[in-house]
Amino acid sequence: MPPIPGRTDCEGHAPMRQDQFLTVVGREEARRRFDEALRPAPVGIETVPLGEAHGRVLARALAAPIDVPPFDRSTVDGFAVRAADVATASETAPVRLAPTGDVVACGVAPTRAVDPGTATTIATGGPMPRGADAVVMVEQTEPDGAGGVLVRRPVASGQNMAFAGSDLAQGETVLRRGKVIGAPEIGLMAACGTGTVEVFRRPIVAVISTGDELVPPGGRLGPAAIYDTNGPIVAAAVAENGCVPLVFPIVPDDEARLRAALTEAHARADFVILSGGTSKGTGDLTARLVAGVGAPGIVVHGVAVKPGKPLCLAVADGKGLAVLPGFPTSAMFTFHEFIVPVLRRLAGLAPRREGRVEATVPVRVPSEIGRTDYVMVGLGTGADDGLVAHPVFKGSGAISAFAQADGFVAIEALADHLAAGSVAEVTLFSPEVRAPDLVIAGSHCVGLEPVVDAVIAEGFDARILALGSTGGLAAARRGECDVAPIHLLDAASGIYNQAFLDESLELVPGWRRLQGVVFRPGDRRFEGRTAAEAVAAIAEDPTALMVNRNTGAGTRLLLDGLLGGRRPDGWTNQAKSHNAVAAAVAHGRADWGMAIATVAKAYGLGFLPFADEHYDFAVVRARRDRPAVAAFLLALASAPVRERLAALGFAVARGESGSP
Ligand code: AMP
Ligand code: MG
Repeated sequence: MPPIPGRTDCEGHAPMRQDQFLTVVGREEARRRFDEALRPAPVGIETVPLGEAHGRVLARALAAPIDVPPFDRSTVDGFAVRAADVATASETAPVRLAPTGDVVACGVAPTRAVDPGTATTIATGGPMPRGADAVVMVEQTEPDGAGGVLVRRPVASGQNMAFAGSDLAQGETVLRRGKVIGAPEIGLMAACGTGTVEVFRRPIVAVISTGDELVPPGGRLGPAAIYDTNGPIVAAAVAENGCVPLVFPIVPDDEARLRAALTEAHARADFVILSGGTSKGTGDLTARLVAGVGAPGIVVHGVAVKPGKPLCLAVADGKGLAVLPGFPTSAMFTFHEFIVPVLRRLAGLAPRREGRVEATVPVRVPSEIGRTDYVMVGLGTGADDGLVAHPVFKGSGAISAFAQADGFVAIEALADHLAAGSVAEVTLFSPEVRAPDLVIAGSHCVGLEPVVDAVIAEGFDARILALGSTGGLAAARRGECDVAPIHLLDAASGIYNQAFLDESLELVPGWRRLQGVVFRPGDRRFEGRTAAEAVAAIAEDPTALMVNRNTGAGTRLLLDGLLGGRRPDGWTNQAKSHNAVAAAVAHGRADWGMAIATVAKAYGLGFLPFADEHYDFAVVRARRDRPAVAAFLLALASAPVRERLAALGFAVARGESGSP
């Protein structure tokens, strides 16, 4: 193979063969190759003061250098005595002991021995005087008026005192290598007098986002630009796994600048993570440059996992380099599966302990044979109270799935689907996930937020799963959610929602959403007209471009009714949400479409009202009495929530759900 054009051979290596290039391998094979080429081990050891050791990983076992406590000491306030002297002591026949004259406070060494018939005043923590073998609590004594003490109760030898080394004996192993130092470990080390600690050096991990379109969060988004999501996610995840992120400024898709960044990152960091530049469009620019950093170069390029296929793993002169796919969800999954185990070993950390639960997956999930599919799921409970994992389907690149998901299910490479009703293992994103008290599954609407806020204020925890009206209804029929928000128009009767319920469900009225024609303000073709007038005129205008909704959307049915069989230019453009319609019109990709008034307002668009859509709730009867469901229904009816709904532009239903 000829040298790759543009590569830097800064380390003086002969160009390597890149025969693994673009050969997709399985998950295990990818891990094995990376491991074998890198052999990850802790990057070094450093000494830090105890006060800075929190969260670090102990690099050497710690043996107690002294006895803890270092001397025999009293554990109460009282008198150090010889137990034999007070063996007969009682309320009626107290024993009188003469004072030694010593007063042993904390930090004071005794000067006099306790001889038979004497006692020394001693405080909690005070060192035991010679001769004494027990302490009588001050409560069980009384001064005798002549400087001595009357003891009213006997004590056993060794009572109310602790012996030297009884907590930790000198030489005993206190903490083992690899222990993550938390407050208890700090306490142990402090008790041993350890002022400095040897910990593993935190690996420095360079994080580089690449792409002409990327803007750092906080910056201004120009046309066709997006915010850099991978950089911040990867940096945070690097820190969560015991490493220090070294975040580089975003690098545009420019060969020279990318090469410069890569060279610098490889020199300064222990591991380099890039993202983007992996798809065909950029000609695999990053992978090509990574291949030239050092030997042996790329060991994996392409893994049979979804999301995440274009992952590229390389080793250059003992340091690992990874190019994560551009889409943030793909970047996160591949980071978690392939990079985290390696980073933890570099940091001296044990493998990540993941929370796992078993749950029923209620719907069939298709998968491709020959690759591992990761499906994000949100947890709820089923009719029998067992855990249910609802797949959160979103397009590739949808970061919002993380907000709805509690974890993921992996469908192994040999399966072509996961059957509806399968019990699957869910790997949890965070160790203590529990099923939410209230699961709302169905059509999403911004109006849900004030209702859910009120439910949360009552101390419940709620989850909205955006499954669409039909998906939510199906989940509700199976008893796998509490409430399904729906807006389904029965074409035959012209009535919303009621006809779609069965006897297991009860319809609770929600609110009306005013649907209408949206357009850019000032467009003369729309201003001052009714929706019907505008659409009649526009349908004949060849310069006007519309944006339609997806098949099955209630809004599309309405729009078809308004069009009365006409199919203006753009009719085949199927936006999937009210927001997508509004964005297309606001950005000039289309001139008009149909959306709800709330969204039109949010985008600053003109609005010609057309019809009221009924957004109601199918409530699972068997769950109606659950406290969180009761709280939801109360919130829905409450004056403050209704006021907030009205402010958002929704007309709150008054108990009926009639035709539009
Ligand atoms: P690429 O691999 O560079 O072709 O990127 C594939 C997709 O991921 C494109 O839609 C990119 O805009 C997107 N992408 C790449 N890098 C990032 C990033 N750091 N943050 C968010 N999206 C990204
Ligand atoms: Mg790119």
